[in-house]
Amino acid sequence: MRLPIVAIIGRPNVGKSTLVNRLAGEQSAIVYDQPGVTRDRTYLPAFWRDREFMVVDTGGLVFNDDTEFLPLIRQQAMAALAEASAAIFVVDGRTGPTAADEEIATWLRQQPVPVLLAVNKCESPEQGLIQAAEFWNLGLGEPFPVSAIHGSGTGDLLDKLINYLQPVQDLPDINEIKIAIVGRPNVGKSSLLNAFVGEERAIVSPISGTTRDAIDTEIERNGQTYRLIDTAGIRKKKNVEYGPEFFSINRAFKAIRRADVVLLVIDAIDGVTEQDQKLAGRVIEEGRACVVVVNKWDAVDKDSYTIYDYEKHLQERLHFTEWSETIFVSALTGQRVEKILELVNQAAEEHKRRVSTSVINEVLEEAVRWHSPPVSRSGKQGKIYYGTQVSTQPPTIALFVNDAKRFNDNYRRYIERQFRQQLGFKGTPIRLIWRSKKARDVENVNNNRAARV
Ligand code: GDP
Ligand code: GDP
Repeated sequence: MRLPIVAIIGRPNVGKSTLVNRLAGEQSAIVYDQPGVTRDRTYLPAFWRDREFMVVDTGGLVFNDDTEFLPLIRQQAMAALAEASAAIFVVDGRTGPTAADEEIATWLRQQPVPVLLAVNKCESPEQGLIQAAEFWNLGLGEPFPVSAIHGSGTGDLLDKLINYLQPVQDLPDINEIKIAIVGRPNVGKSSLLNAFVGEERAIVSPISGTTRDAIDTEIERNGQTYRLIDTAGIRKKKNVEYGPEFFSINRAFKAIRRADVVLLVIDAIDGVTEQDQKLAGRVIEEGRACVVVVNKWDAVDKDSYTIYDYEKHLQERLHFTEWSETIFVSALTGQRVEKILELVNQAAEEHKRRVSTSVINEVLEEAVRWHSPPVSRSGKQGKIYYGTQVSTQPPTIALFVNDAKRFNDNYRRYIERQFRQQLGFKGTPIRLIWRSKKARDVENVNNNRAARV
């Protein structure tokens, strides 16, 4: 299940990333002061009332300039819009409408996506309305005066926005698990692929809208479809002479991004290498579920390398083996290869699991009782008001606290461990978002909730 996406569009420096951070409540994201910086698209989970969505910041959109990076940024914005359920077009209320705003507006009016107009930097309530009114001419409907920095006005904007977002329970649940098989050259990826596909005729399908040579293979077991991602990348090397050091990490990164579950294939003989660690790091960054597959187990001398020793080695070198399952297989003999798919099912299930707010708060209460939040030097105690799971894939829990800065890394890790111990989530990374909230706002949220029940 994929959450609806909201694309944030606008020229550079109008405050898009500030607004994204405001909506997603992620304090750690960076605000760039430099116009025209290329950025990869990052999706941040956000929610408003009972709706959840992903906000995606696009780089600054500029049409009539030919700086080297601009076509790329524009392409990013277009790609982001193509998959969005709605867009927020951000303009700068202090400068008033510019020629570039008009160009973007003209383009946006032709797109089949609902667009809301956010007039940013309107800190003053009275002045803000006047500033916003100047943007009626863009022909995109009502301009909403907001201040991304202060958070004012965003409530009205979000109230309007969620009309365009489907509630989570109505989203189509595509019953297909996307798997990326990644690993260094020669670890046995293509052997594994062949073992999966076996005699049965693989359905090989090019994916529309991507490079022609990204080809997926579909397999089916017990009514469950698995899409093995970018199998062309795995097979290709059979026909091409690459040096042993050639390693298309970029291709692997792309496959990871598209996957639900990553099979990180390790060569049992070589053990965990730096490249494996790099891939593992990316799996976590992308929030993908993962199964560690130790291949060529048939070739290991079992007396010298027992599973127990091996697991210890993995734990030392791959820090996420604590939450992922590890399986020892042989693509060559087929030993335990089918069992991989059972672990994939389990990881995919956990990756999209949703835990109720009441359970999360039980865990939190218990955790805080054992170990109270840190006290700052000035004697102020950190306080967790409540937590709630704001999204899945990966499970993401927002914690509303009096002051996020008071919660040091130690305490944050402690809370994460508690969630792991109490809630499981085997096979998937989990994310915690620490948000500072005024007690007053928390009351409002609670009142809203009560009103809905
Ligand atoms: P982006 O390039 O569109 O992503 O813009 P940024 O979010 O990086 O913001 C550009 C500049 O505008 C930064 O210096 C921000 O501090 C400032 N800014 C962003 N939002 C507001 C706002 O609501 N009010 C004011 N006064 N400044 C803002
Ligand atoms: P890829 O580069 O990751 O796709 O790796 P390949 O599937 O091409 O395999 C590289 C080499 O390792 C080949 O010579 C395979 O026969 C061998 N190999 C793959 N899987 C196994 C295995 O489970 N056991 C043993 N002993 N060799 C394997």
